[in-house]
Amino acid sequence: MVCKQKMGRVVLILTLSLNLLGACGQRSDTTTVVDQKAESNAQDAQSLSMDWLDEAKLHTTDTDLHDTIVEIQEILQERNLVSPPDAYAASCSPVSGNFVPAFVTGNFRNSDIYICPGSDRFGKVFMAQVLIHEALHLSGIRDECEVTRLEVQIMTDAFRIPYRNGYASECGIN
Ligand SMILES: [Zn+2]
Repeated sequence: MVCKQKMGRVVLILTLSLNLLGACGQRSDTTTVVDQKAESNAQDAQSLSMDWLDEAKLHTTDTDLHDTIVEIQEILQERNLVSPPDAYAASCSPVSGNFVPAFVTGNFRNSDIYICPGSDRFGKVFMAQVLIHEALHLSGIRDECEVTRLEVQIMTDAFRIPYRNGYASECGIN
């Protein structure tokens, strides 16, 4: 901690961040590729997804799903929607040919929602469903099929036509 504070001062004066922090034994959380368009699209998508979740809450007949929706709304309000730090940037690489628009780390209690560069090209409607998917993970669900099933149910309860994510086929979800 002392080391960090001292280095913080040095960083301010010399702006020699990386090597100094490395020398201090701090893990670097630096993000060199900040895609502001993608982040801003995600912010717009966040507000859209909150509207959809309100709608889904009104119409779902499943009390467990209702509770889950309340939880993911809190998650979407609390967590940062940010470009991934360099250490995680590889997680934006395509998986089986599918573009990865966003991801979370396995540390569900603390993970931000990382927004991959270029994801804005799909627009905020696409991204709003992606955020619901990622927030479902952060509510504690690791399994992609279970997340996809809930994601599609929420979209349907919000009177939206869900797009088929990359897991739908293998999970047998239409
Ligand atoms: Zn997922």
